[in-house]
Amino acid sequence: MLLKNLEHLEDYVSGTKGDETFIRLSSNENNYGPSPKVVETIKKISSLTYRYPNSSYNELKETLANLNGVTKNNIILGNGSDEIFFYLFMMYLDENSSILTIEKTFTYYRILANILGAKVIEAKREENFSISCENIINSLNSSVKIVIFPSPDNPTGVITKRECIEKILISIPKETIFILDEAYFHFVPQELYWNSVDLLKKYDNFIITRTFSKFYALAGIRLGYGICSEKISKLYEKIRMPFNISLVSTEAGKAAISDNEYYSTILKRILEDKKILIKELKNLGIEVLEESYGNFVFIKAPEELGNKLFEKKIIIRDLKSFNYEPGYFRITIGKTEENKALIKAMKEV
Ligand code: PMP
Repeated sequence: MLLKNLEHLEDYVSGTKGDETFIRLSSNENNYGPSPKVVETIKKISSLTYRYPNSSYNELKETLANLNGVTKNNIILGNGSDEIFFYLFMMYLDENSSILTIEKTFTYYRILANILGAKVIEAKREENFSISCENIINSLNSSVKIVIFPSPDNPTGVITKRECIEKILISIPKETIFILDEAYFHFVPQELYWNSVDLLKKYDNFIITRTFSKFYALAGIRLGYGICSEKISKLYEKIRMPFNISLVSTEAGKAAISDNEYYSTILKRILEDKKILIKELKNLGIEVLEESYGNFVFIKAPEELGNKLFEKKIIIRDLKSFNYEPGYFRITIGKTEENKALIKAMKEV
């Protein structure tokens, strides 16, 4: 077997337990669901699913390139952004190399690195959970071939400033890639948003990844994309599976991008409801991290909260698998009535 120690690998713990009778606030999905245009498109395309997709994926790539002011040769596609990480990790890691990430973040980076036998270096956060570019830079060594972390971060929601990202880019060797995981970037308020795509002009070892799973409410479709230099996308095209994106995903993705009106209405509602939820949680005496910019909140509460809510058919995400101490939870902003049900249940428990 080429890959070793597989039986000792940690399993990925997902937040997707419970069935449709539960209110699921544990996976940062967009509970409003996809736009009606997407649903219509999927229905239409269903009779054509006997065909393979066009393996160049040029149309979807063009659409994403236009959306981001780049060319289609700067776009890479994955069956979820998870698959993009997988391919990039395969491309850049071996048993003598490491990834550099931050402590207590999205767990799949470390799981993937472990699958490939690479080491994982985790830079410490600041006391307030924010990401320290100094700690990241100080943790660099010659084995680091990939630097990766999310902004907004999962599970804290903290965001990282442009200056910090650029300092890291300046500090790493050209052969090391820096993947900025922007799964939640749509939820960052306008006044704090900065466009990371600009940095691609200066750094061809920089890669931004995004997903249709959160804002576009298409987690079940599995579609993610990356924006990177042509040099990296050419290599990526060599190793990806010929048909890694389904026909349904390509069409659903294009339809989602075309319905700005639907998604901006939903976004407004989620961000307004988030403010209300934070206020209500604080009224209940729960510690809430306010500098947090995803479609979720990061809280510290009595340890038994998760189980008590589960009994009431509401699922939130316990962060023990992210290496947080007991009592830390992440709660997705659901539909207005779901958030109300959550607060009602929290008052009862
Ligand atoms: N990055 C982060 C930070 C995430 O939280 C998630 C999903 N929970 C992903 C990537 C993976 O998303 P996808 O559904 O696109 O694989």
